[in-house]
Amino acid sequence: MTDRYCVIGNPIAHSKSPAIHAHYAAQQGQDLHYEQCLAPLDGFAATVQRLVAEGYKGANVTVPFKLEAARLATRLAPRAHAAGAVNTLLFEGGEIVGDNTDGAGLVADIVRNAGVTLEGKRVLLLGAGGAARGAVLPLLDAGPRQIVIANRTLATAETLVAGFAEHAGRLAVSSFADLEGSFDVIVNATSASLDAAVPPVPASVFGPGTLALDMMYGNKPTVFMVFAAGHGATVRDGLGMLVEQAAEAFALWRGQRPATAAVLAALRQSQQ
Ligand code: NDP
Repeated sequence: MTDRYCVIGNPIAHSKSPAIHAHYAAQQGQDLHYEQCLAPLDGFAATVQRLVAEGYKGANVTVPFKLEAARLATRLAPRAHAAGAVNTLLFEGGEIVGDNTDGAGLVADIVRNAGVTLEGKRVLLLGAGGAARGAVLPLLDAGPRQIVIANRTLATAETLVAGFAEHAGRLAVSSFADLEGSFDVIVNATSASLDAAVPPVPASVFGPGTLALDMMYGNKPTVFMVFAAGHGATVRDGLGMLVEQAAEAFALWRGQRPATAAVLAALRQSQQ
């Protein structure tokens, strides 16, 4: 019987996940079906229960249900616990296992696709919302010298860092305006690009060797990417992260991590 998976969100029609997973399944010779699942805003838990009852093997979770998914899971992977958010569910042995592959996808995109190591590097993480929270532990695991988290609302960044007390020596908090020195890697995990806004960071954070990645993606560079490139940085959008987080989810469900280059190239092509 074909194993079934889906991506749950609201709205969901825009999701690229079914196309990505169909590509991975074909590449890996795996018999699975992956579809979109629109859940009512007040009906996420009921939707998950229905999927479990119908024999689905797992699901991805996207906006606005990632926090609710973390509360609903009967067991959380450490990185999902650290993030307080779940983007991947695994229905197994009567349990709803919650994981978060967004941060691992981000790190995989930086290291594998951009070819930039994080070991010993100075990293700036802009934002302290769900996406930033999910990124902190996988970024720390990649061995940077320091991660500075800068957010519009400083208290939110301080609360975020307080949750990683055992890594306090490598984590710092700053306002945008007080950022000092340049960074090797800068990740924009704010949603500012959605409003065509750029977090007001000093231009000195960028240097000729800086990789600046905006988690957002679209058919043209974001305003943040344009700003960063204008100050000498190499820039990337969040499409590679999307493809890599899906590969991480596929690996969790199916035990095999698919190759991502072809699907990333195909998505880039379709955006032009
Ligand atoms: P949240 O709503 O949880 O967090 C939003 C963050 O952005 C907060 O830190 C907020 O600061 C900050 N922010 C919002 N507007 C501005 C602004 N005008 N200037 C400066 N900071 C601002 O969102 P998420 O964390 O879920 O998502 C963030 C981004 O990441 C989105 O663009 C999303 O599309 C993208 N994303 C991409 C993924 C991928 O696979 N490529 C996966 C997941 C997310 P404050 O605390 O002050 O309100």
